[in-house]
Amino acid sequence: MNQLNLLWDYQKADIEVENISKEIKRSPNRQQLVKYRDSLLSHQKTLDRIEEEVLTMQDRLAALSDAIQRTENQIQGIQEKLQTKEPENTEETERFISDVKRLIGNLNDYEAEIKRIRADSAEREKLQRDVKLRAARTKKEFDRVKVEYDAEFKEMNERLSAAKAVAEERAKPISQAYLDKYQTIKRHSFPPLARMIGSQCTGCNMSLPSGVVKDVQSGKEVECETCGRLLVYSE
Ligand SMILES: [Zn+2]
Repeated sequence: MNQLNLLWDYQKADIEVENISKEIKRSPNRQQLVKYRDSLLSHQKTLDRIEEEVLTMQDRLAALSDAIQRTENQIQGIQEKLQTKEPENTEETERFISDVKRLIGNLNDYEAEIKRIRADSAEREKLQRDVKLRAARTKKEFDRVKVEYDAEFKEMNERLSAAKAVAEERAKPISQAYLDKYQTIKRHSFPPLARMIGSQCTGCNMSLPSGVVKDVQSGKEVECETCGRLLVYSE
């Protein structure tokens, strides 16, 4: 058998390897697992974001609580001042009143903000629970399909290994130059070898010039001008 024919047999085994690899990738269970995994990742992202937001809210609540404490102390300070010493004139009285009013206004603002944050926080906790629940359900489905897929994969992987072994065996008597050429063509056209039937390349169905036909018939190494496949003569 000449090198081209050996390469042709090698290609048959390589096609089998490719088919099984494709089958593995296309497995509905595998695709389902990828979907579940993506969904779990997106749930995790949501949970991380919520956690981040909750932390920010907690920081803000702590800051507000400090601000309230400070404001209350200020109000108390004014009250104590008034108890120890009556205001000297109306202006002073008015200043005290306006200070206290402003401070009470601040207190109200702080409390309103705390209320808003608590409502937001409750909303987020609910969302968090929902997402966790959904994630748990998805994880359960993932685990169930994973068991099925593992069994299926084991079987397919054994077939793949067997097919690879055949291809490796068939590659042995082939020169490295031919194998390299095969891999180079494979990058743009698969399968890389095409039979020439009559004057036609069966890879792309284009007619070949008579000079090329003769070269292929004589066993020369010729690539199809159209698809770049290595042509193999077939009577
Ligand atoms: Zn062609």
